[in-house]
Amino acid sequence: MAGAGAVLSMSVAPSLLASYVSKANDPAILGGQAVRSNDWPEWPQWKPESDEERLLEVMRSGVWSRSGTVAEFEEVWAKTVGSKRCVTTVNGTNALVCGLANLDVGGGDEVILPPYTFIACPQSILINGAMPIFVDTDPETFQIDVDKIEDQITSRTRAIMPVHIGGCPADMDRVMEIAEKHDLVVLEDACQAWLSEINHKQVGTIGHGGCYSFQNSKNIPIGEGGAIVSDDDEFMDKCYSYHNFGNPYGSITGEPGSGTQRLGTKLRMSEYQAAIGLAQLKRFEEQTVIRSRNADYLKSQLEEIPGIIPYKLYDNVTRVSYHLFLFRYKKEEFQGLTKAGFGRALAAEGVPVSTGYTPLNKMPYLNHAFQSKSFKKMYPESMLDIDAYNERNHCPENDRLCNEEAMWFFQRLLLGDRSDMDDIAASIRKIQNNAGKIKAQLEG
Ligand SMILES: *Cc1c(COP(=O)(O)O)cnc(C)c1O
Repeated sequence: MAGAGAVLSMSVAPSLLASYVSKANDPAILGGQAVRSNDWPEWPQWKPESDEERLLEVMRSGVWSRSGTVAEFEEVWAKTVGSKRCVTTVNGTNALVCGLANLDVGGGDEVILPPYTFIACPQSILINGAMPIFVDTDPETFQIDVDKIEDQITSRTRAIMPVHIGGCPADMDRVMEIAEKHDLVVLEDACQAWLSEINHKQVGTIGHGGCYSFQNSKNIPIGEGGAIVSDDDEFMDKCYSYHNFGNPYGSITGEPGSGTQRLGTKLRMSEYQAAIGLAQLKRFEEQTVIRSRNADYLKSQLEEIPGIIPYKLYDNVTRVSYHLFLFRYKKEEFQGLTKAGFGRALAAEGVPVSTGYTPLNKMPYLNHAFQSKSFKKMYPESMLDIDAYNERNHCPENDRLCNEEAMWFFQRLLLGDRSDMDDIAASIRKIQNNAGKIKAQLEG
């Protein structure tokens, strides 16, 4: 292939060459040639040679409900994150539900959380009968703005649920300091932050409990699956009991033969889920290293582009799992092209991008819960007034992030090589160079 360019320029008529070059420079969304023709790494990954033996063993054994494989996965996961104990659950959402329930969060309580997260967070609070209270997002880090937490604390506040969004750690030092001062429990949502660290301690192990997700899109994909970790034996015994109908477990004992001891439900992971999880864990560390290397490089490239502002990390962060590569988009640097238009143009270049979360603090599910029979019995009317709630939970920084600026690349893009990262930067530059034309065409 050496010299192919020279051969092309000698053998192709000048006008044809000009149109060839123009096609490469034109944005793909306007009919030009896309920057990328290659596929991105697939997700989830499954390698029959290494992954299937254990799974087949489970399937052929006929023991599919919770047993030794699940217990093994729990042991491995606790060890991986540096926690004493782990209880797996059917998914990350129910890990949060179980965690809150067994930290004694319930009717009449308020739980503080950020709005830039997944819907599972507020729903896990509401399903326990508690009231989600939103604290605005720090737009530079995308994490809960710790300086605004104390403004939202009342006599009803029982817990804080920090979320390590994208895999970037929240400011846990401050969160724990505030929690201690006001005697609150902290349940970490580490559902995107497997292996992320603050001062060499993994997130998920800093609060009173930490929750993980192993859903299909996550960095450890099982399809569905979740886990809670903690060093607190009593809390973990309660979580285990809760996830198994409230039956006796560990320190949860009653009179011999007295039967089920506590309120509970059934959230048990199955054996084949654990077998899939154990297979995924074999490549997880290596993939985390690759994502991190690519994210660092991509960040250095994107920081050079006016109007693209990648996530900022807190100073004490020592490792990031990168479930999402978060960045802000400033349309002023792109001739006014909206975030949605930019997203479409980037996808057309072969770079899939998400326009991110929409504001969770102002969706109909909240009033639906507030108007339920149980909420009406648990709260005074004034607390269930949705207008008053909206006023108290107004998060202007988060609104701007969601509606105008925040975007992300999914983790699988970070499993490519350096040239793949260069393609992302080149695609964005191309759109920037043609932003006026794209805006005229897409947005008038
Ligand atoms: C995925 C996710 C959850 C919920 O996990 P599931 O396993 O999908 O139920 C909770 N919080 C965050 C931040 C997540 O990304």
